[in-house]
Amino acid sequence: MGTNDIRAQVEELRRELNYHNYLYYALDAPTISDAEYDRMLRHLRNLEGEHPELVTPDSPTQRVGTAPSQGFEEVQHALPMLSLANAFDLDELKAWHRRVKNLLGDVEFDMVCELKIDGLAVSLIYEEGRLVRGATRGDGHRGEDVTSNLRTIRSIPLSLIGEFPPSLEVRGEVYMPIESFRRMNEDRIARGEAPFANPRNSGAGSVRQLDPQVTASRNLSIFVYSLGRVEGSGMPDNHWDSLEYLNGLGFRINSNNVVCKTPEDVEEQFSYWLEKRHELPYQVDGLVVKVNSFRLQESLGYVGREPRWAIAYKFPAEQAVTRLLDIGINVGRTGSLNPYAVLEPVNVSGAMVKMATLHNEEDIQRKDIRVGDWVLVERAGEVIPQVVSPVLERRTGEEGVFRMPDACPVCGTPVVKPESEAMHRCPNASCPAQFYELLKHFISKGAMDIDGLGERWCGILIESGLVKDAADVYYLENEQLLGLERMGDKLATKIMNNIEASKQRPLSRIILALGILHVGSEMAELLAENYSSINELSEAEEHELTAIPGIGPKIASSILAYFQVDHNRQVLEKLRRAGVALEKPEGEIDSDESVGHERPLAGMSFVLTGTLSSMGRQAAEARIKALGGSTSSNVTKKTTHLVAGEQPGSKLAAAEKLGTRILSEEELLVLLEFDRVEVEA
Ligand code: NAD
Repeated sequence: MGTNDIRAQVEELRRELNYHNYLYYALDAPTISDAEYDRMLRHLRNLEGEHPELVTPDSPTQRVGTAPSQGFEEVQHALPMLSLANAFDLDELKAWHRRVKNLLGDVEFDMVCELKIDGLAVSLIYEEGRLVRGATRGDGHRGEDVTSNLRTIRSIPLSLIGEFPPSLEVRGEVYMPIESFRRMNEDRIARGEAPFANPRNSGAGSVRQLDPQVTASRNLSIFVYSLGRVEGSGMPDNHWDSLEYLNGLGFRINSNNVVCKTPEDVEEQFSYWLEKRHELPYQVDGLVVKVNSFRLQESLGYVGREPRWAIAYKFPAEQAVTRLLDIGINVGRTGSLNPYAVLEPVNVSGAMVKMATLHNEEDIQRKDIRVGDWVLVERAGEVIPQVVSPVLERRTGEEGVFRMPDACPVCGTPVVKPESEAMHRCPNASCPAQFYELLKHFISKGAMDIDGLGERWCGILIESGLVKDAADVYYLENEQLLGLERMGDKLATKIMNNIEASKQRPLSRIILALGILHVGSEMAELLAENYSSINELSEAEEHELTAIPGIGPKIASSILAYFQVDHNRQVLEKLRRAGVALEKPEGEIDSDESVGHERPLAGMSFVLTGTLSSMGRQAAEARIKALGGSTSSNVTKKTTHLVAGEQPGSKLAAAEKLGTRILSEEELLVLLEFDRVEVEA
């Protein structure tokens, strides 16, 4: 190959990699798998290795991440936040170990072996023991100031315990636990939104957005994995001790870290976690192996964007090749047409995969996936499998190019594609597919929870004409159920009993069950905290809704639109007549344990006044809500606590008059940090 060809290839690879860096780091929405990205980067690195004259400082091999996004304050890192070199097999790990040993003059050294948490790297700065700044890695030198968002994460201490140095920077990985990811995706699907691709991107997206309330609702966590810049004396002289030290200050450290002496010890850890990684409640993509001694680390130094003293030993991608038999379309509850791959069943690291997501038409076209292709399928842990790419070498020419249908495959209504969306939609609100999805959602566990009336019976009830809207469920009679094919006495009784029991679900559940666009379980809870009945909610005005932190114009207008539709009002009236509770019972504070997580502040209502020096008011409110409390802007008889910051306003006097409990900022911090020293079991 001529030099010009190689130059062109290098440039093409850089262009592609920069594009994917942007999707991954700036938008948190990658469209190729990490393994694919790593392969491309490695290819570029090899070409640059053979042709060093082609290396440029802006090549993706020389840079980390991407520049900070607009919308965040930019911060300068005192010490750069770097990347890690990768090893993809034992030979590469051994080669790294040999290199390090040679550089150190043939001395033996200990290594610390840690799980590589798949999340978002952050830097946390503490002055006099108080968290003063949290930032993302950005391009390694300049990151984004996400302090308010990070303050809502419960495992990030706001103040340190024990003897801390005057100034301390720590680094760690913020991640979304798999369970939260699953819950959030169920919620997104319920709202008619596309699910997130994996916990890494949803975790990163949750930190890198402008509303701390959203971060707070995502149940994120952190593992701290290193010291950054420290001012103070008496610091540990090796990595292992520094982790123990950080743990003592209140930071969450991964309890699976171990010290290894040889590459074989590391390999043992690797094999163990390769098998067990899916049992962890968070996603990991390999191990990080670090030279333990700080003195040795220092003498090894850095090369380009990577420290020589550490390496990421990556788990192999969980991939397999199979045939794409067909592309099916599922019509969602809000009418979105969701394409999915029907695959010849294939075993991908122990799990049989028959279907995979295909996101949307644009994605299928971009990847040039055709029906009949051999395709590379990948799964990562619990995440929905995805089609990575077609295997072009195996293409015969018989494959069919996919086109979105012009009409809804269920009701035949011409589909629409709003400019601003990637999804095609069936606009027919009474499309049976949409109603079927709505009914499934209505009776689901998180909503009205009518056990026994599963997906299959939903379909049968709609086909038989017995159920034409959700309220019809409450008018079913035992005999009607018994008239259905294969319905037994016992099941019919069970269903009737469960329908009856579901009439008294908490208000948040019924709000969720209605299937209002953009209202998932967290939003439903928020609405139930602020309104005492469906009736009250139906009369809410836009400015009133948008005054609630966490509700933007999009959600508000969707709620207003829902109550303006006659059909919806009729369904609500039918529900009311059937005896379904559409309001909170007298004196009850809505708290639904089956949906929420730990809610130590449930039942408490806070008003914040004055300036809070340790955290912004918005972050404090978000954190209160994440812990189950509610906030409001005016002191009333319902207010349980008034938090008085510096220079409090007239609200303090109002609270004093009503005898409301008054908290100082210090006292609030204690309340909000109740689990500060949470250490992994
Ligand atoms: P990296 O994954 O190679 O390694 C460095 C990072 O590991 C650190 O910044 C830190 O955040 C993390 N980490 C987790 N646990 C750690 C621990 N115990 N100790 C130290 N660090 C720990 O980081 P990178 O430079 O961001 O590399 C890029 C990664 O992102 C690759 O896995 C790549 O596949 C992926 N990527 C994917 C796409 C895509 O389009 N799919 C695009 C860009 C990057």
